[in-house]
Amino acid sequence: MKTLFSGVQPSGIPTIGNYIGAYKQFTELQDQYDSYFCIVDQHAVTVPQDRLKLRENIRKLAAIYLASGLNPEKITLFIQSEVAAHAKAAWMLQCVGYVGEFERMTQYKDKSRKQSTKDGISLGLLTYPALMASDILIYGSDIVPVGDDQGQHLELTRNLAERFNNKYNDIFTVPEVKHPEVGGRIMSLNDPTKKMSKSDDNQKSFISLLDEPRLAAKKIRSAVTDSDSEVKYDKENKPGISNLLTIYSSLTDESIPSLEKKYDGENYGTFKGDLAGVVETFLTEFQEKVNYYLESDELDEILDRGRDNASRKADKMVAKMERAMGLGRKR
Ligand code: ATP
Ligand code: MG
Repeated sequence: MKTLFSGVQPSGIPTIGNYIGAYKQFTELQDQYDSYFCIVDQHAVTVPQDRLKLRENIRKLAAIYLASGLNPEKITLFIQSEVAAHAKAAWMLQCVGYVGEFERMTQYKDKSRKQSTKDGISLGLLTYPALMASDILIYGSDIVPVGDDQGQHLELTRNLAERFNNKYNDIFTVPEVKHPEVGGRIMSLNDPTKKMSKSDDNQKSFISLLDEPRLAAKKIRSAVTDSDSEVKYDKENKPGISNLLTIYSSLTDESIPSLEKKYDGENYGTFKGDLAGVVETFLTEFQEKVNYYLESDELDEILDRGRDNASRKADKMVAKMERAMGLGRKR
C-alpha cells in the first residue's frame, strides 16, 4: 500500500478553505493509502502564538480532522512536536538546502512582510519548508494532498529529496503532490484576489469551521462580489462570484456548470442567500461531530496511538539518514 502524508497548522481554527482544499480530499483518499495526518504545531510557531491558545487550537484541530470523516481505526493522526524525528530530519535537510532557494518561497515573502512591520523576521519562517520536507519524507510518502498554495513547497521537498538521494544514499521516495480538482485555492471573502487564510487578522475574510453557523451565513451574504449581477464562473473578471461558486460546488458536490444553469437569470442576492443556507447547515452538522470528539476521552487515545505509530516509522528513516550522512556511531 502506498503512503500518504498531509499536515495542517494549529495557527488558528481551520477555515472552510482548509476543509475544501485539504480535509475533503483526505477522507476521499484514506482508504487507498497508508495515511498519516499531522497537526503541525512546530510550523505554527514560525509566527508568534499565544501558548494557551495554541494548546487549545491543537486539540480543536484534532477534533476537526476526525469530524471531517477520518477513520481513526485506519489512519494515523498525531501531533508533530510529539514525534522527535521531524525536527531531527529537518536539520539534516536544512544542511542539504541552499539559502537562495528558501528565500524564493512566496509564502516566506508574504509572511515575512507581515512580520517585519512588528518584530524581526523569525529564522524559522525561512527554514520552515525544510521541516515540511522532513514531515513528508520521513514516512516515505508517495502522495501529499494539499491546496494549490503548497505547490512551491512541495517542489522544494522533491528537490531536497533528490539532492539527498544523489549526494548521500538513495533512501527517499520523491513524493507526488495532489491538488483537489475543485477548490484548491479558496479566496478571501472580502478580497477575492487573496487566498483565504486562518491566520488572517480580519475575521470577515474567512469562515472558520467553528464559526457560529448563523454568523458564517452572514459573512457569505456580505462577501465582496463583482460589479455585474450574473452568476457565472469567470475567475479573471469575476473573482468574487467565482469563489462563491467554488465553495457552493465543493460543499454540495453539484458541478459549477450545473449551478450556473440553476441560477441563470437570478441575481447575486438569491444565490448568496442559498449558499448562506448551505454553509449554515454544513457547519451545524460539522460542529456536532467536533463537539463529540472534544468531549470524549477517545481523542487523547487516538493521538497517543498516532504518536507511537508515527514514531516507529519515522525513527527508522532518521536512522537511515544519519547513517547516510555519517552522524553518530555505527550501530
Ligand atoms: P496559515 O494562514 O496559518 O498559513 P492556512 O489557512 O494557510 O493557515 P495551513 O495550515 O497553512 O492553512 O494549510 C493547511 C492545508 O490547507 C494545506 O493543504 C493548504 O494547502 C490548504 N489550504 C490553505 N489555504 C487554502 C485555501 N485558501 N484554499 C484551499 N486550500 C487551502
Ligand atoms: Mg498556510
